[in-house]
Amino acid sequence: MISVAIDGPAGSGKSTVSKIVAQKLGFVHLDTGALYRAIAYFIDKSDVDFSSEIDVKKCLKEIDLKVEKGAKEQKILLNDKILTTELRSLNVTKIASKIASYKSVRDYLLELQRSFAKTQNVVMDGRDIGTVVLPDALVKIFITASPEVRAKRRFEQISGDGEKPDYEEILTSIKKRDYEDTHRKIAPLKRADDAILVDNSDMDLNQTVENVLDIIKERTEKI
Ligand code: C5P
Repeated sequence: MISVAIDGPAGSGKSTVSKIVAQKLGFVHLDTGALYRAIAYFIDKSDVDFSSEIDVKKCLKEIDLKVEKGAKEQKILLNDKILTTELRSLNVTKIASKIASYKSVRDYLLELQRSFAKTQNVVMDGRDIGTVVLPDALVKIFITASPEVRAKRRFEQISGDGEKPDYEEILTSIKKRDYEDTHRKIAPLKRADDAILVDNSDMDLNQTVENVLDIIKERTEKI
């Protein structure tokens, strides 16, 4: 089985790139951030105190999380309910960022992520795929861009949705998430020693996809 691990900070476009790359290669894509978000969604709905790891750990027993093959992309099922746009709310984003620092949550998701790569060719994206989840992945890529470029992309995306976002606010929140992701004790966001760096600050989506495909081709042709 071939595993492609793609890590990078928020707003680097790694999930969009991973999805397109997986489609082009006929691989299955797993956006692991959506798994953290699904747990966050459950916590949000059930009024669990997410600042308490003990409470969060307890509630994991009530969660049955599954990833199923959908027509276009993977479906995330939380206690048999399919989750889509609910996972993108501001509250869910905030809770996900906090609970991702808990060992109990990371352990809970580790096996689910690993088992996904056992039986199929995958492109898996997240923060710790190349370092922790799939340390033996054949291809490891770290996609990043400057905080300013990532904030600008987010600004344009939100403006396109008809809202009036504040650029400075977005930039501050991106920097805050970068700090939290890179400074947490367990599985911090970090480029694996053997990951190839793709800085897409000056690339558009197509160029990033082509770049990533070239890296994968070069690596897989060697074996
Ligand atoms: O990538 P996304 O923003 O959807 O991730 C949601 C949250 O889950 C983030 O706060 C991120 O730090 C965390 N996460 C993680 N490890 C992963 C994927 C996401 O800690 N492999």
